[in-house]
Amino acid sequence: MQELHDEAFKRTDCLDCANCCKTTGPLFTDKDIVRIAKHFKMKQQHFIDTYLRVDEDNDYVLQSVPCPFLGADNYCSIYDVRPKACSGFPHTDRKKFHQISNLTLKNVAICPAAFNIVEAMKRRIKL
Ligand code: SF4
Ligand code: SF4
Repeated sequence: MQELHDEAFKRTDCLDCANCCKTTGPLFTDKDIVRIAKHFKMKQQHFIDTYLRVDEDNDYVLQSVPCPFLGADNYCSIYDVRPKACSGFPHTDRKKFHQISNLTLKNVAICPAAFNIVEAMKRRIKL
């Protein structure tokens, strides 16, 4: 998977896409909130009230998409402190990739690179 992931991302320019940031948002962990609120010099609660809501799984997610931190040029304005879920997306290089197949199914609908990775994987195992 690491090899397929690396090959796909060599051929993918996320700055031409940004579909993940436009159509879905990351989960924000407590550590993400502390780090990003600090970056904006905001109180954590103010950051939460301004940008986040609690979803049906009790996780903090964005109030709206496209992500408010996405620029018109598709650059992330908080790239250095972005949520962990953003830096790992689409998670196709996870060591335990086989344990997140439901998540991957969702991500192939969002992410052209993840789609290509899964298609290449299927060809390799001749599905
Ligand atoms: S959806 Fe996939 S290809 Fe598009 S910007 Fe996100 S990670 Fe990159
Ligand atoms: S925080 Fe940055 S990388 Fe994450 S969804 Fe928003 S714009 Fe995209």
